[in-house]
Amino acid sequence: MDINSFMPSEEECALVLRDVRWREGVCCPRCGSHSVVKHGRHLKVYQRYLCKGCGQHFNDRTGTQFDDSKLPLRVWFFIAFLMQYQVSVKEIAKTAKISYLTAFNRTKMLRRSLHRSQLREKMKGIVELDEVYVTAGLKGKQDLKRSPRVRGLKVRGRGTYKTDKPPIMGMVERGGAVRIIPASDVRGRTALRRVMKHIDDEAEAIYTDEYPAYHILDGFCNHQTVNHSQGEYARGGGIHINTVEAEFSVFRPWMSTYRGISKEKLYLYRAQYNFLRNTREEDRARRAAAIAISHPTNIEQYSCTISFI
Ligand SMILES: [Zn+2]
Repeated sequence: MDINSFMPSEEECALVLRDVRWREGVCCPRCGSHSVVKHGRHLKVYQRYLCKGCGQHFNDRTGTQFDDSKLPLRVWFFIAFLMQYQVSVKEIAKTAKISYLTAFNRTKMLRRSLHRSQLREKMKGIVELDEVYVTAGLKGKQDLKRSPRVRGLKVRGRGTYKTDKPPIMGMVERGGAVRIIPASDVRGRTALRRVMKHIDDEAEAIYTDEYPAYHILDGFCNHQTVNHSQGEYARGGGIHINTVEAEFSVFRPWMSTYRGISKEKLYLYRAQYNFLRNTREEDRARRAAAIAISHPTNIEQYSCTISFI
């Protein structure tokens, strides 16, 4: 696919932007007022508005990442579109016909905005919790104060952030959202902190395996365990963690696309993954627009959110 078959013109791109951004009606990015009237054009393509609440003008691009960008909007959208597939930055640059540095910086910006826009709503139903360990060092970091490792980053068994094998906790609400969360370790207190942050204390149940650290959750939201070491993978009443384990089998190959991620940047990739998994039913072009406008950069008050994020 090339950019022309994705989005033939800036005009068309502006229509998609308008459609996704103002899904719940145009509202002023400065004061949140819905009392706005159309007022001319911005750069001939974008609609310009006058807010009756604060008396200021804004347009379809105001407050987005690409507000002052010289890169055409459809290139931004195309980068966001390609980010939905398992492609590297190098391939994005090649397909979108932009430099590697431009592709690298834009994908980083979009990931960061996805991170800022992630919903903080707590999970409520039956939540399955488990962890995997990924190998992640300090890729791309300059001036490392240590000599290179002779045998790469392979550490056996469970790891921690310190040993370059940080745990990734996975939470899946049955029939609901997926959340992948990097952690520094999987000690009881770390697990409890993550659970309290992401799972409502009135959630129906939390299922985990029998890893000792999870015993700290006993008595919290009907915590139940399955004992894998004794060959138990499901108990009566639907107690299992198969859904979250299946999620890891999607997550691992997705991560491997990037051929090593710095552990310091894991949180950005997890934001991208969580977004893609939780909006997987959406149309890809519209989802690209949602990624591109996922968080405003220069306006703090932003009451217009995109309903499917
Ligand atoms: Zn206003």
